[in-house]
Amino acid sequence: MSRVLVVEDEMAIAELIALNLRHSGFDVVVAHNADDAQSEIDKVLPDLVLLDWMLPGQSGLALAKRWRSASRTRDLPIIMLTARAEEVDKVAGLDAGADDYLTKPFSTHELMARVRAVLRRKAPQALDAAVEVAGLRLDPATRRVCRGDQEIKIGPTEFKLLHFFMTHPERVHSRAQLLDRVWGDHVFIEERTVDVHVKRLREALSPVQRSQLIETVRGAGYRLTQQVADVAA
Ligand code: CA
Repeated sequence: MSRVLVVEDEMAIAELIALNLRHSGFDVVVAHNADDAQSEIDKVLPDLVLLDWMLPGQSGLALAKRWRSASRTRDLPIIMLTARAEEVDKVAGLDAGADDYLTKPFSTHELMARVRAVLRRKAPQALDAAVEVAGLRLDPATRRVCRGDQEIKIGPTEFKLLHFFMTHPERVHSRAQLLDRVWGDHVFIEERTVDVHVKRLREALSPVQRSQLIETVRGAGYRLTQQVADVAA
């Protein structure tokens, strides 16, 4: 399930946003200030953050800047929420690293449309859209992976791992990044676990000659390559 962190000190607004996101199938965590938001991020990296600009203590703008400058949170999708409709504020928000910007009051339709648009662009693994790479089709809605009319048997962790790889092809992901993005836990799970599941994933892809899809990048991690020859694995 995709996880959204809502950082908003006004309880009523936070609840309304959380309610709407949960209705759409998101797992929602709410933080009411910058410190709580940071400790949630330290625990589990969400798929997206809705970040209020005006927070008690440290502002949402300062938080966004801090997250953008840290390697672990550099690509974190962020939508700023604000009551300030001035263009200069919008520019400051985008400069601080926000991916999009919502001015209060906003409709739930607009909220959900922006959330989906940012996820589509930056975290497509958080959406239910089917993906196709190198003749392999993965459908999150039916939890099926097929090549042509051949369906493969795949475990839940390998499914998530493959989904992440397929939505981020050609990029090299370190073991720590994969733990963060696929397992949602970078603290208590050993990096060796990634190797175990990559091995299982390759085995699952073997019957459809796609085990070479996942490349080991020495000293760096793993990558999904789209250049796969149709030879027996
Ligand atoms: Ca506020």
